[in-house]
Amino acid sequence: ASSVEVRNVDKFYGPFQALKNVSLSIPAGKVTCLIGPSGSGKSTLLRCMNFLEEYDRGEIRIDGKLIGYDAPGRKMSARNLRQMRRSIGMVFQQFNLWPHMTAQENVAEGLVRVRGMSKPEAMARAATELGKVGLADKLGNYPSRLSGGQQQRVAIARAVAMEPKLMLFDEPTSALDPELVGEVLNVMKALAAAGMTMVVVTHEMGFAAHVADQVAFLEKGELVAVDSPAGIFHAP
Ligand code: ADP
Ligand code: ADP
Repeated sequence: ASSVEVRNVDKFYGPFQALKNVSLSIPAGKVTCLIGPSGSGKSTLLRCMNFLEEYDRGEIRIDGKLIGYDAPGRKMSARNLRQMRRSIGMVFQQFNLWPHMTAQENVAEGLVRVRGMSKPEAMARAATELGKVGLADKLGNYPSRLSGGQQQRVAIARAVAMEPKLMLFDEPTSALDPELVGEVLNVMKALAAAGMTMVVVTHEMGFAAHVADQVAFLEKGELVAVDSPAGIFHAP
């Protein structure tokens, strides 16, 4: 499992400063939840961790290695960035499955393309991963024939199949009907229990309070509090 060190990070969208001197240590094997009002910079901070967004100042290190830059102001090659991203999985609010592929093919695709597995080997592995998220009986379903909760579990299985050392979740349950949220949170809990380093942007305060090891609260681009769930939610 990876650790992440965010140090004095600034991020601008044009003249607008979305992150203001953010520093945060994300310990290996723990769950960190990013919470705060809409527009406070949670998603931006998460996306900086795999360099889907470029940060403008400061450092983000994964296991001590700077992501996105070789040195301050000098961007890393696309090849090196791809290499670093191989150990980082990401799950989005919209499930982003390939609509023309079955659940099993969605999971197998990356194993073939990135890992160079044979198709049969990748399909077998995909079946195993889908079994772990409770979808052993949905291998042949296309995304349009799955509920939102099932689609999101396929997306998680697809990310986990790549054996990441860090998983980033951007509001993974926000697009789901309320009755489907629990099945996705349960899969995430199992992943946490297995020792995955997880960073989760969420509005699910129950999850943050009961599953997170650490909660970081953002407001207007600033990290205003970092504490245990007890410290954040039961403060006087
Ligand atoms: P949150 O995830 O907390 O809702 P975001 O990180 O999505 O917040 O956005 C933080 C702020 O940055 C918001 O004011 C948002 O409008 C702005 N923002 C996000 N993405 C962009 C972008 N691509 N261009 C300009 N402004 C953006
Ligand atoms: P979310 O709340 O899930 O972050 P948003 O509607 O805020 O969704 O953002 C959707 C997309 O639009 C993201 O890629 C984000 O970076 C971009 N975005 C958000 N705010 C702005 C903005 N003010 N200007 C330009 N792009 C934005």
